[in-house]
Amino acid sequence: MSTTMDLTAVYKQMGICEPVYAFGKKIADRLESRFAQIDAVAEYNQLKIIAAMQKNRVSAECFHTSSGYGYNDLGRDTLEAVYADVFHTEDALVRPQITCGTHALALALMSNLRPGDELLSPVGKPYDTLEEVIGIRPSKGSLAEYGITYRQVEFLEDGGFDYDGIRAAINERTKMVTIQRSKGYLMRKTLSVAQIGELISFIKGIKPDIICMVDNCYGEFVEMTEPSDVGADMIVGSLIKNPGGGLAPIGGYIAGTRACVENAAYRLTSPGLGKEVGASLSVIQSFYQGLFQAPLVVSGALKGAIFAANLYENLGFQVLPDGSESRHDIIQAIALETPERLCAFCEGIQAGAPVDSYVTPEPWDMPGYDSKVIMAAGAFVQGSSIELSADGPLKEPYNVYFQGGLTWHHAKFGILMSLQKLYDRNLVNKDLMC
Ligand SMILES: *Cc1c(COP(=O)(O)O)cnc(C)c1O
Repeated sequence: MSTTMDLTAVYKQMGICEPVYAFGKKIADRLESRFAQIDAVAEYNQLKIIAAMQKNRVSAECFHTSSGYGYNDLGRDTLEAVYADVFHTEDALVRPQITCGTHALALALMSNLRPGDELLSPVGKPYDTLEEVIGIRPSKGSLAEYGITYRQVEFLEDGGFDYDGIRAAINERTKMVTIQRSKGYLMRKTLSVAQIGELISFIKGIKPDIICMVDNCYGEFVEMTEPSDVGADMIVGSLIKNPGGGLAPIGGYIAGTRACVENAAYRLTSPGLGKEVGASLSVIQSFYQGLFQAPLVVSGALKGAIFAANLYENLGFQVLPDGSESRHDIIQAIALETPERLCAFCEGIQAGAPVDSYVTPEPWDMPGYDSKVIMAAGAFVQGSSIELSADGPLKEPYNVYFQGGLTWHHAKFGILMSLQKLYDRNLVNKDLMC
C-alpha cells in the first residue's frame, strides 16, 4: 500500500472525507517551494538560538528551580543574556512575573515614560488592550492618569506611512514611539521588519533621542531579522505566543537598550531591586526549551496560515494576507461572509484539537466587544495562541482570525476539519474543489 493510500485512509478515520483530503493535498502540493523558504528561515533562526545558548554556556544548572527572592538565579540571568544575544540587544527582561503580552507592553511604556511626556503611535490604533493602558479608553492606572499624553497618526489610504503627519506630530514632549508589527485583529497589513526599519530611521532623523518600541507579538522568528536589528530600542512580546515555542506556560519579554530594560526592571519589581530579584520558579526549563523550539513551531504555524489562505482563496473567499504575499506574522484572516460559516469553521478547528476536541464552541457576549464572539481553542496552555486557535466576531464580514499550530501537521488537520464542517453543511461551492 502506498503512503498516499495510508494517509487518505487515516484522514478518513479521523473524519476527513476523500474529496476534502484530495483538495487539501492539491493545494499543499503547490506550496512546496514556499514551504522550503519557510524552512530556510527556521533553520537560520534555529542556528541563531543555538549560538546564543552556546555563547552563554547554558548548562543543566540553569534548569534548577529557584524560589523566594531569587537572588543569583543563574537560570534566569543566563536566559536573559540568551534573549539579548538572539535579538542583538544590550539586555533583556524575560520573566514569569510578566503575566501576558499586554503586561509586558504596559511595563515597557510605564517604566520609560514620565509625567509630561508624550507617546506617539505612527501606525494608527494600537491593539485593543493597549487602549486602556494608554488611556484612549479611560481606565484606572492608565498612562493618561499619570499625565502622559498620546497622539496617533493613521496610515495613508494606500497603506503607507504618513510621513508628513508623523513629522507634524513629533514635538518637544514626544519621548517614545510605539510601533505595532502585527496587524492584530485589524484589516491592515502587517509591517515587515524592513518597513519598521525605514519608519524608525525617519523618526530618529527628526528627533534622535525618541525611544522606539515595537510590539513584536506574533512576529518573532517569522523573518531572519527582528525589529531590534533595524533600530528599535525595545521589542516586547508574550511567551505564550511565538518565542515560548508552545512550551512556556506564562511570561513575557522586553529586549532592548540597557537603559530601557533597567527602567522596566525597576518598575516590574521595585526601585533599588530591579533585575536582582524575581525567582524563576519551576518554569525556567520550559522557557529555554520553548525558545529552542520556537523557530520550528513558528514555521509550522506559518505553513498552516499559508495553506489556509490558499485553500479558502481557491474556494472564492477573501483572505488577508492573500495566498501569495510575503508573511510578517502568523495571523490569517478569512472573510467567511455568513455566521453559519464562521461557526462551522470554528467548530472544525475545535474538533481537530488534541485537547477539548469534544466540546462545541458557541458564540458569547465577550466583555469589551460590541457583538457576540465565537472562539475555538483546544490548547495545552490556556489561551495560548501559538497553539492552533480561531476566533471571530459575529458581524459583517464574518471574518475568522486564526493563528498557531504547534506542528504543521496539526495545523493542516485543523484546517481540513474546518473545511469538512463547511462541506458537510453545504456551505462551500463543491464544484471549486475538483
Ligand atoms: C496578543 C497581542 C497583544 C497582547 O497580548 P496578550 O498576551 O493577549 O495580553 C498585544 N499586541 C499584539 C499585536 C498582540 O498580538
